[in-house]
Amino acid sequence: MTTNDTPVSTNFIRQIITQDLKENKNQGKVATRFPPEPNGYLHIGHAKSICLNFGIAGEFKGTCNLRFDDTNPEKENIEYMESIERDVKWLGFEWAGLYNASDYFEQLYSYAVQLIEQGLAYVDSLSAEEIRVYRGTLTEPGKESPDRNRSIEENLDLFTRMRAGEFADGAYVLRAKIDMASPNINMRDPAIYRIRRVHHHRTGDAWCIYPMYDYTHCISDAIEGITHSICTLEFEDHRPLYDWVLDKLQTPSHPQQIEFARLQLEYTIVSKRKLNQLVTEKHVNGWDDPRMPTIAGLRRAGFTPKAIRDFCERIGVTKQNSWIEIGVLEYCIREDLNENALRAMAVLQPLRVVIENYPDGQVEQLEISNHPQKPELGKRQVPFSKVILIEQDDFAAIPPPKYKRLIEGGEVRLRGSYVIKCNEIIKSAEGVITELRCSYDPDTLGKNPEGRKVKGVIHWVSEAESAEAEIRLYDRLFTVPSPDNEPNFLDVINHDSLEVLEGCRVEASLAQASPENRYQFERTGYFCLDSVDSVDGKLVFNRTVTLREGGWAKD
Ligand code: ATP
Ligand code: MG
Repeated sequence: MTTNDTPVSTNFIRQIITQDLKENKNQGKVATRFPPEPNGYLHIGHAKSICLNFGIAGEFKGTCNLRFDDTNPEKENIEYMESIERDVKWLGFEWAGLYNASDYFEQLYSYAVQLIEQGLAYVDSLSAEEIRVYRGTLTEPGKESPDRNRSIEENLDLFTRMRAGEFADGAYVLRAKIDMASPNINMRDPAIYRIRRVHHHRTGDAWCIYPMYDYTHCISDAIEGITHSICTLEFEDHRPLYDWVLDKLQTPSHPQQIEFARLQLEYTIVSKRKLNQLVTEKHVNGWDDPRMPTIAGLRRAGFTPKAIRDFCERIGVTKQNSWIEIGVLEYCIREDLNENALRAMAVLQPLRVVIENYPDGQVEQLEISNHPQKPELGKRQVPFSKVILIEQDDFAAIPPPKYKRLIEGGEVRLRGSYVIKCNEIIKSAEGVITELRCSYDPDTLGKNPEGRKVKGVIHWVSEAESAEAEIRLYDRLFTVPSPDNEPNFLDVINHDSLEVLEGCRVEASLAQASPENRYQFERTGYFCLDSVDSVDGKLVFNRTVTLREGGWAKD
């Protein structure tokens, strides 16, 4: 069912299901579904729901469907459907069945006719605004529409003609006849059908009336034989309506709706509508921009399915809304990458080092392991030569206290290579350091120098045998922990969330990097090849996450 290898913890939903199975409810069957509306790309909040629904199906030997809740044709499209399928698969899950609410339009229509025939639904001519006013408030009961007592015959006639396209958009709605005085506003005769002349990405122009979400959702669940319909807390007040529809219609099954708290992640937005706005107004470069909390963005940034599943497991499932620190997600990806990313060397801001006593034109292939703790990941050849590049800030002309890297007259070890000593600093006319003249100790390859200690280790690449790369460093997209609570979330966008470094140099082996591989650039962070912009031999790497919390590792 799933490839989820993250340890499974218990939670209140799993407890409910365990109990149901004990009582042999649903003949011992467990069937869940993940029901996205195809109106945007999936985000990390959806991952929580996906891991929960598919995870439960896997754990209880049940099934989980992927169902597109496609009742709002204005905002939905095929691109979104395809991205959702891709993302669910990438996370490591397989659906039992792939369905669309629109598959059920005909059945939903005949169920609506049944409601009318039972005197439980009526065609209303009030305008949307009038319906809103008639609905009342939390403290005042609603008022009945003058159309509420229309005869069944007349309702059937009008509803048939609504479908046939005889009326303008908005001229009528079909409403469930429940209780205009209910303390639960969702029960005050909710609309269940509206007239919308909009092309639907799957049913085309076959329909000019579309069923409303609440009405559609419960029936779709029942048609698919879902046993546990898991949704987020804001639907708690809709549950009486969910149950009302299924009770009145005597559908083949009556799934149990269970609500849990949605994921809120600090410094991010988890609302497709707002993410859509970021994309359409070009605050980011598309749905898969590595700064986006979308699955596509996280993937492009170098996150792994395992890390995301681990994150969803760690944050747990409860009924209390709370904010999760972004550090939790970063922790999960660091854990995975520390264990699995291949090591490599990249110099982000190069400083030229000429090793004066190294033979001209000689290139030595040094064998360096791809992972210090995992010999099975093998070794690679890293070319060493007379002219190498190191990070500008791995050299200090005026070293701060306890500085362990290269200083004038001092020594440092080059990772996987020799110990070098800086003999002379070369500066431009403006006083900028342009080059270091060094010497190497040929006796220090793979062993400590005689009679002295060299503490610092720095990374490097050969100037001639390295490849040029653009490296993109990302920061959080918002400047405050809860951008969703701002009057306008666009006001708190972090305008320094992307730093592009050009002219970086990466070791030769990275010229063959693939976006599927994850790398730890020694001492610098975790990176992966950008799957979109790395074309025609141009290397672009995205920083997935820093090595440690709070930034860059040094020394
Ligand atoms: P959005 O506001 O981002 O569009 P939504 O809830 O309207 O979110 P749907 O496409 O309807 O998006 O969501 C599909 C499923 O994912 C639903 O069951 C929903 O409850 C769940 N889901 C959406 N956002 C979150 C979240 N932040 N945390 C947990 N589950 C979520
Ligand atoms: Mg929605």
